[in-house]
Amino acid sequence: MANKEEKFVELVHRVKACKRCPRMTDSARVLGAGCGSLDAKVMFIGEAPGRLGADASELPFHGDKSGHNFESLLEQVGLSRYDAFVTNAVLCNPKDENGNNATPSSTEIANCAQFLKEQLELVDAPVVVTLGAVALRATALVTAHALTLKESVRKAHPWAGRQLIPAYHPGQRAMVHRSFANQLADYQFVAEAVRRGVGPGRRKLSAKQSRASQTVGAAARVLLEESGELSYFALHKLLFMAEVRHLEATSQRLTEGYFVRQKDGPYCVELHASRLAALIPGCFTRTVGRHLLVSLGQEDLLAKASLVGTLSEVGRRTLSEVAAKYGPLPAGKLKTAIYLTTPMRELLRKEKVLRMNLFNSAVLPAP
Ligand code: SF4
Repeated sequence: MANKEEKFVELVHRVKACKRCPRMTDSARVLGAGCGSLDAKVMFIGEAPGRLGADASELPFHGDKSGHNFESLLEQVGLSRYDAFVTNAVLCNPKDENGNNATPSSTEIANCAQFLKEQLELVDAPVVVTLGAVALRATALVTAHALTLKESVRKAHPWAGRQLIPAYHPGQRAMVHRSFANQLADYQFVAEAVRRGVGPGRRKLSAKQSRASQTVGAAARVLLEESGELSYFALHKLLFMAEVRHLEATSQRLTEGYFVRQKDGPYCVELHASRLAALIPGCFTRTVGRHLLVSLGQEDLLAKASLVGTLSEVGRRTLSEVAAKYGPLPAGKLKTAIYLTTPMRELLRKEKVLRMNLFNSAVLPAP
């Protein structure tokens, strides 16, 4: 019998070829390695990929305001994408006649229900969280239930051999009905359910602010201190290179960032352009042509890195060495050096064997 990964690849191929919904013809089919771990302990189901988010990034809940809120909520309860599988009730972005996001119709939700069923069975996560009323309705098409969002939110309901926890959609519109603070309490409830279901052997989930952003912010800051101004592209690549070298030297991750493979190489999810200012206080960005450039202000340079206490001595040294050796390289040469690292070579080999690209799949092991 085919293993989990082969079954998933076969499912992804069928989804990519699906033409059941006429208005989704030009939308990305957002199912792939970027959805997360096939052994996840929690599965999040949203409504549909957003036009500015997953339809563009092909990483569910990433790149738009909903994605930003979702990642923030996960972070604040100590959950990481390494713990989760993230998908949507419909796998393609529905657009209205003006090209804006639309709510998927009942027919479209029903069209995609078989794919949702297969994902639920394949991942088999003990905790399933629906984000919004549409996702909750879609789960009822897979295995019947009579839950409504208003009455069943933030409660664990036995469902199809799992716990089903209804939550609100993290988009701005839903915040009117459920404030960010309330949603944060919902995610704390989810993290606790995951922790209980996971057992003592697994990495402990922290109720504090996730270390992923802190460590990524601190590491990016060191790179900027050492290099002066860096392109956004180089910042991601240098951070990845430092991770690889640190991993090789110590068998441990340098940061807790989530790195995925994108068309132009590894990309750190926490380091999204819209979050730079929050992640690296005092950083400046400017655009030259098509390039986003990032640097630290003069005062910040003098203050010399208040955040770096988060990093070990070896981590700091690795970052300095990487900045000195790879920072001055032009983009093409930097990209080549990155593609020659062991994790990237292994991923490219895997793509060859599976005969598919693994865009948005995790490139590094979980910290
Ligand atoms: S939303 Fe689902 S059923 Fe509709 S075209 Fe996309 S993959 Fe197919």
